[in-house]
Amino acid sequence: MQRDETRHSSRDVGFSLGREAIMVVGDEERQPSITTVHYTRISQSHNCLMDYMDRADQRSTLRSLSTHIILRFLHAHIYQPYCRPIEEPSPVEHEEEQDNLQMSTEIGNGDCLAWAARDASGTLSPYTFNRRVLRSDDVSLRIMYCGVCYADIVWTRNKHGDSKYPVVPGHEIVGVITAIGSNVNGFKVGEHVGVGTYVNSCRDCEYCNELQEIHCSKGATYTFNGLDSDGTITKGGYSSYIVVHERYCFKIPDGYPLEMAAPLLCAGITVYNPMMRHKMNQPGKSLGVIGLGGLGHMAVKFGKAFGLKVTIFSTSESKREEALKRLGADKFVLSSDNQQMESMTKSLDFIIDTASGDHPFDPYMSLLKVGGVMVLVGFPGEIRLSPVSLNLDSRSIVGSVTGGTKVTQEMLNFCAANKVYPEIEVIKIEYINEALERLVEKDVKYRFVIDIANSLK
Ligand SMILES: [Zn+2]
Ligand SMILES: [Zn+2]
Repeated sequence: MQRDETRHSSRDVGFSLGREAIMVVGDEERQPSITTVHYTRISQSHNCLMDYMDRADQRSTLRSLSTHIILRFLHAHIYQPYCRPIEEPSPVEHEEEQDNLQMSTEIGNGDCLAWAARDASGTLSPYTFNRRVLRSDDVSLRIMYCGVCYADIVWTRNKHGDSKYPVVPGHEIVGVITAIGSNVNGFKVGEHVGVGTYVNSCRDCEYCNELQEIHCSKGATYTFNGLDSDGTITKGGYSSYIVVHERYCFKIPDGYPLEMAAPLLCAGITVYNPMMRHKMNQPGKSLGVIGLGGLGHMAVKFGKAFGLKVTIFSTSESKREEALKRLGADKFVLSSDNQQMESMTKSLDFIIDTASGDHPFDPYMSLLKVGGVMVLVGFPGEIRLSPVSLNLDSRSIVGSVTGGTKVTQEMLNFCAANKVYPEIEVIKIEYINEALERLVEKDVKYRFVIDIANSLK
């Protein structure tokens, strides 16, 4: 099929994947969808297509809108029947195309049961698909529990504009190994294991070699909504099983309650990693924790396990008693009360800021001692602060995100050895849409964990 550039309009978009080059034609403003897009194969070179995309300035738009549709074709090897010249299809053809696509979504009567979001409404519903065949370095695990993270809302509701539907979320996965590849030597069938926020990386760069795979130079592959090296879109732990390279799989120590291990794989490692990097495990030092959600409550737990004096900062007075009694914090400060805040001036060695809402930074920085460190693990809209907050007392503000495979395993071992247990609310998969709403409202103490094994059937 020859490419006929003169027939393309400025609203057409192009895409290339390896040696495949595809032109997607559709009404961009209405967002190309199964019913408003059709496809043609481009016989010209990759470069030619890229030039076209540059001119049309559509590259990023396309990546977010149409990648999943194209990948579904390519990897199901059903691409060819859908190739057609660029021309308006009749309404009847449109309907047929949609039907066929629906079939391809559920292709092969997939044996992996899951719940997925199909569009930006984020509503999850049952869905089946096929996982990849076990490779020599892979393990396959039956998922027992999956924690519910705010990231699940971000991508099921397309908050970043890059969701590739259907989205099967979940990256706090724990389960039991049911099969191992021929080269796997770190795991045995029947072992309790976990999978966290990423499932692949190049395994060859500076950061992978340091076992900091989350910072892989070529980009770690996220556990869901990620583009894997084989071109597939990853699907997460709201599903019955997962196949993963053994490097990205962690041992859950014997005796550690499986349901409680789930939140450690994202919330736990997100706070533990910077706490270790910035040497917060020094008994007697003082830690402030901003925000008391999934991450914040884990920071309190680790702080107490390290022997720190822990102060919780919250905007809600109603959390005071629970912070002190249930979580064992040493102090509670209502952050809207200036007097309470000022009484803490230059009293803290460390602060972990888990708040994702916009908030001022200077009032908190002034609570740090000379040389004190604030670690940012949330995602506020922006960070604005006076240079004085940093310079005069040699303070730092640093960021962090989850952690590599080495520190993740260390964290799991630490939790088992020191009896660090997240506070969880176990739910059934049927409750997930309500649970996500409650998570948005911050109405959870402190992490939802889905009982996959007993409810996803
Ligand atoms: Zn997460
Ligand atoms: Zn790498």
